[in-house]
Amino acid sequence: MASITPLIAGNWKMNGTSLALGEVRNLAAKLAESAPRCTVVICPPATLLERLSEIAAPAGIVTGGQDCHSAASGAHTGDVSAQMLVDAGAQYVIVGHSERRTNHGETDETVRAKSVAALSAGLIPIICVGETESERDAGKAEAVVLTQLQGSIPAEWPGHGIVIAYEPVWAIGTGRTPTSADIAQMHDTIRRDLESRFGERGAATAILYGGSMKPSNAAEILRISNVNGGLVGGASLLANDFHAIISAV
Ligand code: PEP
Repeated sequence: MASITPLIAGNWKMNGTSLALGEVRNLAAKLAESAPRCTVVICPPATLLERLSEIAAPAGIVTGGQDCHSAASGAHTGDVSAQMLVDAGAQYVIVGHSERRTNHGETDETVRAKSVAALSAGLIPIICVGETESERDAGKAEAVVLTQLQGSIPAEWPGHGIVIAYEPVWAIGTGRTPTSADIAQMHDTIRRDLESRFGERGAATAILYGGSMKPSNAAEILRISNVNGGLVGGASLLANDFHAIISAV
């Protein structure tokens, strides 16, 4: 079986000004006391990315963007390209987060184009998929996720790889999580799909769980089979909480 380095990624969303950099200094100090058993990624707002990367790098924390445009440059007011994220110190980028899919009408095709742009720039895309509550209630969760995976993952990717994040939309920011059995079932389904389409590369791809992961439930979620880490929103904003989740690996 492929050995996958666990990954805990924090998604700060549209939160944080210069003051929030203090939390990264606090986290760095905690990680200096005991080395993490996982890759630690923070995805701050683009305005903080360069400064945060400078603080994070010496502590072994890597950074990522929260989105990128599919084009390398051009007339796209307000957007950020994958190359710009690299220039600001990023190694990862979240693509297809449900808030982007809902608030900005992003389709699987858009997400795939963004993933291709990220990979071309040398970034690892964290490709998000997940069903809504009504889709789960209708018994369509697996079909929805498989369709998103089919449409959002590029046909090929270079050695630096991709990451998948399974984030049930109804669990994001709500304090609700699926049962361990439901998480296991979905992660197994995703693994089977990745393996059947991409062979060894699919077997070696990290699958993160995201949606109301916090210090009190992280250990239980992180021990579920085929859960290779977490994508953490609210609980990544405070060093204490994020460190507790990192320590649960
Ligand atoms: C997210 O936004 O990716 C997320 C998982 O948020 P939260 O942890 O706050 O539910």
